[in-house]
Amino acid sequence: MSKQIYVTRKVPENGIKMLLEKGYQVDINPHDAVLTRKELLQALSAKPYDAVLCLLTDTIDKKVFDAVPSAKIFANYAVGFNNINLEHAKKRNVTITNTPGALTDSVAEHTFALIMAIACRIVEGDTYLRKGKYKGWDPLLLLGTDLKGKTLGILGAGRIGEQLLHHASRGFGMHVIYYDVHRVEFVEKEYGATYYPTVEQVLKESDFVSIHVPLLDSTKHLINAERLSLMKKTAYLVNTSRGQVIDEVSLVYALKKGIIKGAGLDVFENEPKLAPGLVDLPSVVLTPHIASATVETRGLMSEMAASNIIEVLEGRKALNPIY
Ligand code: NAD
Repeated sequence: MSKQIYVTRKVPENGIKMLLEKGYQVDINPHDAVLTRKELLQALSAKPYDAVLCLLTDTIDKKVFDAVPSAKIFANYAVGFNNINLEHAKKRNVTITNTPGALTDSVAEHTFALIMAIACRIVEGDTYLRKGKYKGWDPLLLLGTDLKGKTLGILGAGRIGEQLLHHASRGFGMHVIYYDVHRVEFVEKEYGATYYPTVEQVLKESDFVSIHVPLLDSTKHLINAERLSLMKKTAYLVNTSRGQVIDEVSLVYALKKGIIKGAGLDVFENEPKLAPGLVDLPSVVLTPHIASATVETRGLMSEMAASNIIEVLEGRKALNPIY
């Protein structure tokens, strides 16, 4: 009997094609929406699936593993894997994979787009024009902030953080500093980045702070009211990692009170909901978790997830196992 795969939401076709070419039977959630908990459990228990291609919007925990005990692999269509209970996966010997590296360029580029949008006041300018407010060139209209010579502080100098260091130092002449649980000597040699041994030091010295840590118990609310109060009043905070890394209510407070100047956010603490007041702040640029949403990246993620499934179902080691 052919192997059976369940895909929890439509993804780019190239990965699906790879699975079909192997002769696998592929069932895809037919709705253009995240499956509810009930729908996910029902869908997975419908057949003895051999593998599941899941998304960061699916909570994969004990009940889900119980629903599909035949599955040998859950291939997460994301680099982050905070949606999956790894302890239960290990207990059951289920392989968990992600798509590391596939998203690095697009997320670093999107992060830089947010940095530039807040520094150059792009969205405010666009809104101003569309509202018919523009009456002619004005020496004091919508003054922004130069990037050259400013300090960019990176929290988490992994794949994405490192790429952002590259763009900032090589492309824009920014001074770069970083904090990570591991010192990354490469970025110091290559980009002249300075390592700071605490988050606090990075926050105090940066004109822009960009977050690139995974969501872990240790990084939940890494940025809270106390830490926001350490930042410069003229500083901007950018987050394309995971929403829960920032205490969003405290961030809205800090922006309203002028504790920091602005923010660029792609991820939100309780997405798709936003903290009250966030959308009313002109000093904030918001995107709906689309930092990896390029045709190239999403296609590559689809291929990587499919390749991981194929490797495991053919008895080989996954290409991108989490553990
Ligand atoms: P990575 O694993 O290469 O880098 C993460 C870095 O964070 C590592 O260097 C690690 O040492 C460091 N780190 C871990 N805990 C830390 C802590 N407590 N304090 C400081 N540093 C810490 O991951 P990556 O590929 O660069 O991705 C980073 C995160 O970005 C992912 O985990 C994911 O959640 C998020 N992400 C978001 C999107 C999006 O669409 N917005 C897309 C891709 C990735």
